Amino acid sequence: MKKLYIETLGCQMNKSDSERIAGILSHFDYVQTENEKEADLLIINTCSIRQLSADKAYSQLGVWGKRKKDKPNLKIAICGCVAQQDKENVRKRAPYVDLVFGTHNIYELPDLIKKIENNEKVCAITNKPVIKNQNDFNIIRKESVNAWIPIIEGCNNFCTYCVVPFTRGRERSRKPDEIIEEAQKIIKEGYKEITLLGQNVDSYGKDLNDNNITLANLLRSINKIDGEFRIRFVTSYPSDIKDDLINAVDECEKVCKYFHIPMQSGNSRILKEMNRRYTKEEYYEIVSKIRKRFENVTITSDFIAGFPSETEGEFTDTLKAMEELELDYSNTAAYSPREFTKAGKMVDKFIPEDVKYKRLERLNEKNREVCLKSNEKFVGKVLKVLIEGKMEKDGKINLNSRADNNKIVHFESDKHNIGDFVNVKIKKAQTWCLYGEPIE
Ligand code: SF4
Repeated sequence: MKKLYIETLGCQMNKSDSERIAGILSHFDYVQTENEKEADLLIINTCSIRQLSADKAYSQLGVWGKRKKDKPNLKIAICGCVAQQDKENVRKRAPYVDLVFGTHNIYELPDLIKKIENNEKVCAITNKPVIKNQNDFNIIRKESVNAWIPIIEGCNNFCTYCVVPFTRGRERSRKPDEIIEEAQKIIKEGYKEITLLGQNVDSYGKDLNDNNITLANLLRSINKIDGEFRIRFVTSYPSDIKDDLINAVDECEKVCKYFHIPMQSGNSRILKEMNRRYTKEEYYEIVSKIRKRFENVTITSDFIAGFPSETEGEFTDTLKAMEELELDYSNTAAYSPREFTKAGKMVDKFIPEDVKYKRLERLNEKNREVCLKSNEKFVGKVLKVLIEGKMEKDGKINLNSRADNNKIVHFESDKHNIGDFVNVKIKKAQTWCLYGEPIE
């Protein structure tokens, strides 16, 4: 057996791709190791959403490249969004790399690996995916209770700050039968949570030219699979959350009452500049509709601080939105200009770095404040949680769990195990988590 080490940067889609890469390579005698020093094949799965992440990928390649001096048969590969974006240029910056493969070329790996094992240098980047039934290959999943299933890849939205449409291409939905078959297999294997993934998950099915193929109907089908498990879906685009999807979440007892809906800015002019297809008021309406429908629902978001041309007043609208909408948690980032994007060319409107990072600090402070308030709402309530981790400390068993609404809950118990569903009464709230006691 040969040893494979994969370093994964970026989003859940990348993590899911890495699980698929490990699965494909397991058919060719590669076994995964957590120790990169003993690996025969090193793969870095990269993210280019921010410059920092792309820089990290090249810096890791530099470290690995030096290792080839002592281990000349070592093979190095790079994939993911940086590979897709930089293509042949990767090898100009890192000539010791053996294989560059794009986000569309994962299922070509069997051929690509043979070539690099014969000492060829290979670059496989296409703009169109190499179509394969994903269920033909193993998937080596890393999480113990949660399994990711990508259902749609790519994006047609072209938000002006985002590289995804350039690195992942246009939207491509997987066939529902293939997804349901994968979900059935996952449940049989004992996983307790399925997360349906897509850069724009509620667009699922639009490209398959059949009005019955929608995210709502897919949730209904997966909900019918026997077994105790739950279903999540990320990431939603605000104006694509239609009533039928909300109805499906309500009807299906296994679907978590949790929505991740990036707002990006609380100001309608900035949203227009970002080419987001909704106004601040429309976003408020969606949030209000969801909150009215579900008790204990949580809504999380993403925000960018310092988008080109953003004024102090427009930034303040974002702080206000976070508070008024009582968002339960938000991912935040300072704007990072990306190659190919429209916003990346608005150089004369870039916000000075110090202003941008001050805004990010204020955004994070507001996020902490709003998260604590959101957590405090749950004190005294009972939440059904799924245990994800276990740790022994001072003779006590501490369990980490996640509620249906995605809140992290810690509690002590020696009666429960990873993978159990437990009702927990919430006793205490902190900014990022809740503490409780199990109840019978
Ligand atoms: S919806 Fe916008 S931000 Fe999200 S992946 Fe598509 S282009 Fe990027």
